[in-house]
Amino acid sequence: MRPELLNPLFTEISALKGVGNALGKPLDRLGLSRMVDLAFHLPTGWVERKRVSTLDAADVGQVIVVTVTPTDYRASGSIRAPFRVLASDAAGNFVTLTFFGKNSGWPRKLLPLGGARVISGKLEQYGQELQIVHPDVAEEGDAGAILLREPVYPLSEGLTAARMRDLVGQALERAPDLPEWIEPSVLARHGWKDWRNALVSAHHSPDAQDARKRLSYDEIFAGQLALMLVRAASRRRRAVPIAPDGRLRDAVRLPFAPTGAQRRAVAEIDGDIAQSSPMLRLLQGDVGSGKTWVALMALLGAVEAGMQGAMLAPTEILARQHYATLQKMLSGVPVNIAILTGRDKGKVREATLMGLADGSIDILVGTHAIFQETVNYRRLGLVVIDEQHRFGVVQRMMLAAKAELNPHTLVMTATPIPRTLTLTYYGDMEVSRLDEMPPGRQPIKTSVLSVDRIDEVVEALGRHIAGGGQAYWVCPLVEESEKSDQAAAEARAAALQMRFGEAIALVHGRMKGPEKDAVMARFASGGASVLVATTVIEVGVDVPNATLMIIEGADRFGLAQLHQLRGRVGRGDKASVCLLLRANGLSETARSRLALMRESNDGFRLAEEDLRLRGAGEVLGTRQSGDARFRLAQPEDISALIDMARDDARLLIDRDGGLDSPRGQAARTCLYLFERDAAVALLRGG
Ligand code: ADP
Ligand code: MG
Repeated sequence: MRPELLNPLFTEISALKGVGNALGKPLDRLGLSRMVDLAFHLPTGWVERKRVSTLDAADVGQVIVVTVTPTDYRASGSIRAPFRVLASDAAGNFVTLTFFGKNSGWPRKLLPLGGARVISGKLEQYGQELQIVHPDVAEEGDAGAILLREPVYPLSEGLTAARMRDLVGQALERAPDLPEWIEPSVLARHGWKDWRNALVSAHHSPDAQDARKRLSYDEIFAGQLALMLVRAASRRRRAVPIAPDGRLRDAVRLPFAPTGAQRRAVAEIDGDIAQSSPMLRLLQGDVGSGKTWVALMALLGAVEAGMQGAMLAPTEILARQHYATLQKMLSGVPVNIAILTGRDKGKVREATLMGLADGSIDILVGTHAIFQETVNYRRLGLVVIDEQHRFGVVQRMMLAAKAELNPHTLVMTATPIPRTLTLTYYGDMEVSRLDEMPPGRQPIKTSVLSVDRIDEVVEALGRHIAGGGQAYWVCPLVEESEKSDQAAAEARAAALQMRFGEAIALVHGRMKGPEKDAVMARFASGGASVLVATTVIEVGVDVPNATLMIIEGADRFGLAQLHQLRGRVGRGDKASVCLLLRANGLSETARSRLALMRESNDGFRLAEEDLRLRGAGEVLGTRQSGDARFRLAQPEDISALIDMARDDARLLIDRDGGLDSPRGQAARTCLYLFERDAAVALLRGG
């Protein structure tokens, strides 16, 4: 249960007086629903206003505050033309106050002729005149209404700056004093204020760097503490030690020898699963680095020891593909492998459930359905989770909290995650890295082209498929909405179909499972030459004959994501090409980002660059970062503070693993404040 102390922060904004339905949407768009969201909605900048007594052309370009008296209205004949108010300062200098829009009643009311008013806005030169467009206006006695220094908050349509300031102010009033969770020596070393004071400063002062740092630290600390609690809880659990004897692993016949990195990863896994506490290991490896083989060895290790293995994929398509791949790798090996997804119903499902319960199924591949309550394993020993962005910290906590489920766990990710992020998001896990690609890979040649050259690209595509090749065409992200992504993909597919007919297949995230699978199957078997897709489906298929990747709107993707998409080609022994189509008029930074794609095939380097330029969401994918999202901490804060937060959290847990001491209790409050509730639940379980 959340400490009562925090209740005022966790009430809905809509419960405030004067917050009607009209504000619901704008707040929603900003992701603000509770007071705590407002409290953490920090200013992104400041407006500084200059108080002047006379209007002076020397101040053009500045935001000024000045007292003026309106002397004349200049309504224009046309409805389109703006309404103008001529006003003069005490010295008789004039300024034109310009209002766009049809209604002149409102400016007339704000600025009655002959009545002195305090106005503020950016002073502009308009022909011979000085002008301010849409000034802020206050009555003379009410000068406080125009602040000389004002925080700038991210806004959305329907929400004014003044309204936002007012709402944030109300949230801050409700912010309670909280017990201190930061180690006193850390607090003293940085000269940090207590939580509430830090929060208020961060909203009220442009130079509250320390205050912001402290808030970032709190958030990072909460994250690290949560991960350590997950880890500690999992350590306390018992797992069955697994000692593989090699009889099944050795029976696997493949046309390649494993790389050194693959062998090392398996050795690290074997070291973990030999223990009586469950393995929690992350297998990091770029697309194509051969994670599947490592997963297979891990699963077979469990089966050799008389246990079952399960492999969890994020989507139906990927589950089926893993199943097919593993089945092929297992030909001639006496192992019984099955698949279970949400789509399996009736007799088939019953048979699978039976096989799992009686132990006749050795390895199960599937989607989240494999962890449903109705699914009982005879002896589940090891789980492989193919993360692909979607199996975040929260899900891992939930898995760990399911006390009856104590398998050794291997999480695979193709996201090349920089070190700080690895600690941030996977600090509860050991890490194995596949830092060596299988030999004989053809490099992918990447080019960046202006979208103006799309006709040439279509020509090139035509030649490519005429020669028997296959290709992916990934459509741009349109405003992050699945619906518009789909529309873009549909339009592109339709245009290409006009030209290439049946050769074009289309797949997007809103298609139904069977429909999607049929399209993928047609492409995989060569029945279609070009797969037009949205990234929603992550193009998670392995088609070695596809050696051309075209990505439209490449400037709208993160580098790590582009790199992963690009990794869909270059899987066979033929040379591959990736064409990145970019918008015109990109900034220098945006262009150099794309140039990096041309130069580098190193996922880690690209991910570091993304982290530096665009933040964690870009590296991890917005979906995943959503559940372990940082609202306050910037990437540079994370790099600067994570080691300290880690040490602090570890020290606390070593001294007070149950978080029962006063400081432990305070730390619980911090966990709740940042909504790491699942971690607190683990405390009571253990
Ligand atoms: P990942 O899942 O890491 O993206 P995969 O496991 O799908 O990569 O492997 C990519 C391709 O490389 C597959 O076709 C696989 O059979 C092949 N492969 C894996 N390991 C090796 C190796 N050691 N040598 C050659 N090819 C390999
Ligand atoms: Mg894979």
